[in-house]
Amino acid sequence: MPRETNKVILARLEEWKKQDAPLPQYLTVYAQLLQREVEMESSLLPVDPPLTSEQAEQRLRQGQSLLDFDAIAFDWKVVHEHYRAIVDVIDSNLANEDDESHRMTQIADNFELFRQIIEDWYKNIPLSSIAIEACVPEQLLNATLQAVMKPFLTVHAEAMAGLVKQELWRRRYCPVCHGKADFAYLDKARSSRWLVCSRCDTEWLYQRLECPHCGTQEQTHLSYLTDETETYRLYVCKNCHKYIKAIDLAKTNEVILMPLERIMTLDLDRQANEAGYQPG
Ligand SMILES: [Zn+2]
Ligand SMILES: [Zn+2]
Repeated sequence: MPRETNKVILARLEEWKKQDAPLPQYLTVYAQLLQREVEMESSLLPVDPPLTSEQAEQRLRQGQSLLDFDAIAFDWKVVHEHYRAIVDVIDSNLANEDDESHRMTQIADNFELFRQIIEDWYKNIPLSSIAIEACVPEQLLNATLQAVMKPFLTVHAEAMAGLVKQELWRRRYCPVCHGKADFAYLDKARSSRWLVCSRCDTEWLYQRLECPHCGTQEQTHLSYLTDETETYRLYVCKNCHKYIKAIDLAKTNEVILMPLERIMTLDLDRQANEAGYQPG
């Protein structure tokens, strides 16, 4: 369960802090964002799935993700407060030249605009023109919204986990929220490859020999790099020049906390970037 996992991750980070204080800055920022996420998650009540299992099955067969924007149970006042809290974390940690966080806060002051931005983000509509108008970097806006929306999406993802029939879904986007995968793992039992949603942490089964970004199955385009323990893999695609990081669970006996793996493998991102590959 993602919510329980986040609490375990926070406890582990606390433990590390005690052992080899202080944490590097990227982990400090991550811990603060995660703390906000956990606080918000604990204040949200469980939701009922907005679909019956028959409706869900029909949508999955048609390649339609299960959670429509209008079906997300938002209390906009709470979303607004959470946005401010996330911007505060970013503001207190990152070099803030040119008063970016002030402009990030201003975005939320216009309620109609704020709502529209969140809807566009959820529907994967590029935020470039909004970012230019508000004078904030598009990447920062996207990353902020991802942190803001995470608890609201995971509470729905948890409610809908039982509706995702894996055999009906081998697609490049999340069966719950239509987000992209930013991590993968090979399971212990059969070495099947699972993708993990960057937005709601839903996991879904995916072909091992197919690019999760462009869908090519051309084997000359696909390869992976691995470390000497063969625990981590960097799947790269020469067709779209994108990559995805993965962990092979058969190669480790540690308890793996998937969301933490994203952060602990930043060196793989560096390697991928140096080799000319971009994240999805
Ligand atoms: Zn998702
Ligand atoms: Zn590709």
